[in-house]
Amino acid sequence: MDAKAPITQDVLTIPRKLPEGPQNLIGLSRDQMRDALIAVGTAEKQAKMRVGQIWQWIYHWGVRDFSAMTNLSKDYRAMLAETFVIALPEVVTRQVSDDGTRKYLVRIAGGHEVEVVYIPETDRGTLCISSQVGCTLTCSFCHTGTQKLVRNLTAAEIIGQVMIARDDLDEWPEPGTRTEDTRLLSNIVLMGMGEPLYNFENVRDAMKIAMDPEGISLSRRRITLSTSGVVPEIARTAQEIGCQLAVSFHATTNDVRDRLVPINKRWPISDLLDALREYPKVSNSERITFEYVMLDGVNDSDEDAHRLIKLIEGIPAKINLIPFNEWPGAPYKRSSNNRIRKFSEIIYQAGYASPVRKPRGEDIMAACGQLKSATERARKSKAQIAQEAGL
Ligand code: SAH
Ligand code: SF4
Repeated sequence: MDAKAPITQDVLTIPRKLPEGPQNLIGLSRDQMRDALIAVGTAEKQAKMRVGQIWQWIYHWGVRDFSAMTNLSKDYRAMLAETFVIALPEVVTRQVSDDGTRKYLVRIAGGHEVEVVYIPETDRGTLCISSQVGCTLTCSFCHTGTQKLVRNLTAAEIIGQVMIARDDLDEWPEPGTRTEDTRLLSNIVLMGMGEPLYNFENVRDAMKIAMDPEGISLSRRRITLSTSGVVPEIARTAQEIGCQLAVSFHATTNDVRDRLVPINKRWPISDLLDALREYPKVSNSERITFEYVMLDGVNDSDEDAHRLIKLIEGIPAKINLIPFNEWPGAPYKRSSNNRIRKFSEIIYQAGYASPVRKPRGEDIMAACGQLKSATERARKSKAQIAQEAGL
């Protein structure tokens, strides 16, 4: 294949507004909600205030029932209930790991499913959300990469994952009470299924809702978007979202990165590093997280560690070492603990934080790169059981 051939996106985007039936208010930006309210007869002069009120009910108090929105007139509430819905994707299963990690299987329109993982830690609680069903990219170590992309998630489906987790954690404040300072769901990482920068607008709109100070109100410093390296969208992420950035770096030569993260053929390491150098300046973020999956004998040598330090020189960075999570048929093995420790030490000596990511929720198949595959396996084995039973 021509190394410079464009990577096409076979993406089906479903419209926000379904042609029939009531419109969902979830996922609309403030401007879109305003337009929707005006379209159903709200006076233009009042529309901004109404958006503020409804927004607070939905995203601050977690209210889904229009009749409970007591600062709106009865008639107005009735009109809203007839015209709109406040609808989240459906939770199909919820699993809780021995270590407290929670995994939700969530069904979206069209019957597709995505997984969402909540990881509690002592000082924070992180929600790992998905941006696409499957992925157009084909990173060779990632199970999601072996699955065909089905479609981009809508903004409603992306912010819906956050709202589902807040429901389950029972974290919406009682209307009228003060919000807790410490939160169970304090951080969001876009590290589930899919490449968020190939679904830019929907990811941006959903994260703007998550950051809106009158709603869920998470600081942009507590949201991390992970990309495989979609270079042209990186500057836009800084300008239009301004969240923290993580990049799936994973290799220190173009030769190896081409094999691990094929998007490297389109935007090689030097182009990626140029974009990353600019990111903290434009977004005002502190540092870039370099994700580095540890693959035995592939990218884990001392030379790799030294090369990595050289490459990222001058970029405020943290290096997150991820022990490879194996999946059936994977063409790689996880590096040994000793190798990972040695690699980490070299990086640490050079002055960078180099935490080794602890696999969480392994007993419920919630670790990085294992999402969805588990569900598919479960499905398959159920089908096999049925077949064996002659059903
Ligand atoms: N598509 C985005 C975000 C999702 S993947 C991206 O590639 O950055 C989140 C992280 O998990 C990425 O760094 C990815 O490279 C890593 N990952 C994927 N499969 C993995 C596996 N089997 N073991 C460990 N990490 C994996
Ligand atoms: Fe897609 Fe990220 Fe997996 Fe690559 S690592 S296939 S970009 S989800």
